[in-house]
Amino acid sequence: METKAYAAATPGAPLEATTIERRDLGPHDILIDTKFAGICHSDIHQAREEWGQAIFPMVPGHEIAGVVSAVGSEVKKFEVGDHAGVGCFVDSCRECENCEQGLEQYCTGHLSVTYNGREADKETPTYGGYSQAIVVDENYALHIPGNLALDIAAPLLCAGITLYSPLRQWGAGPGMKVGIVGLGGLGHMGVKIAHAMGADVTLISHSAHKEADARALGATNFLLSSDKGQMKAARYTFDLIINTVAVNIDVDQYLSLLKLDGTLVMVGIPTEPLSIRTFSMAMARRRVAASNIGGIAETQEMLDFCAEHGFGADIEIIDAKDINTAWERVINSDVKYRFVIDTASM
Ligand code: NAP
Ligand code: ZN
Ligand code: ZN
Repeated sequence: METKAYAAATPGAPLEATTIERRDLGPHDILIDTKFAGICHSDIHQAREEWGQAIFPMVPGHEIAGVVSAVGSEVKKFEVGDHAGVGCFVDSCRECENCEQGLEQYCTGHLSVTYNGREADKETPTYGGYSQAIVVDENYALHIPGNLALDIAAPLLCAGITLYSPLRQWGAGPGMKVGIVGLGGLGHMGVKIAHAMGADVTLISHSAHKEADARALGATNFLLSSDKGQMKAARYTFDLIINTVAVNIDVDQYLSLLKLDGTLVMVGIPTEPLSIRTFSMAMARRRVAASNIGGIAETQEMLDFCAEHGFGADIEIIDAKDINTAWERVINSDVKYRFVIDTASM
């Protein structure tokens, strides 16, 4: 079937309206009428080939929320009319050690990322959520709980799970002091989720004007990263810091904020390699780690967690014709706090 979409024709080209082909429904597939698609900074990195060679034309979008409009003959998990979501991958090898543990995001076989990737056949290019419909295997789709509106749920499929997974992995909860670096799409979900888990949350930002919003989202403290005095006074106070910034930061400065055995987890993925002074880690047996989205089971757990706590993302809904302007605003840290495309506007 044909569906309307927005695509970049070549690296760095503006996104333009187009039509793409979706595969026929296989026995285990569902067809989702996309209603909303979030704009992740990763869309920009990939469409501009900042992470290496990419596949064009590219239809970005891996924060997809919609309604199931058809199901294949063998589908068990979804019915027509269900609210469904798709995140950053649409298939995986299903047999490697990591897939078997439900950690599909770390598949060592073939991971079919939602766009800028290849389907399970390793040939057909994948096209993402900046489109009006997507066909996906039922095992790689998520149920969006009824009390979460589709527009505020869409960003959870990447921004939400990317923060939920490391917060769970490193045990965020009562008695733990957590720092979130950067109040963008990922960061604002980090503040909300860590707060809902019971942790004491500090937003560390390069934007002084974001303090009030950070506190409203659940942060109890705010650190302005450019203020040397504030940063020095906060040394040795954090158990866990999650960095969401899309450009390289001064890692040593953030490491110095960690207590003994504290961990700095990188989820922002800049283009250039990082440089770290070993001393910054050695002085307090600190660790630097990184994390990639989350598996299907954990993504469902995160959606249920957000629904239970009654929150989704803070969003600004845009028409498809405004995607290119929105991308520029994301780059300028001018988004509160996720742009979501209303796909009906295509
Ligand atoms: P975003 O909305 O642009 O947020 C990034 C935030 O970083 C900004 O809001 C800003 O917060 C801060 N920032 C921006 N420029 C900065 C600068 N020059 N110096 C210091 N801070 C700066 O982006 P996003 O969608 O949240 O994505 C963030 C990064 O995570 C991207 O690199 C993306 O590709 C990556 N990502 C990784 C995963 C994963 O699984 N690991 C998943 C999704 C995305 P303040 O104004 O508060 O400082
Ligand atoms: Zn993303
Ligand atoms: Zn695998």
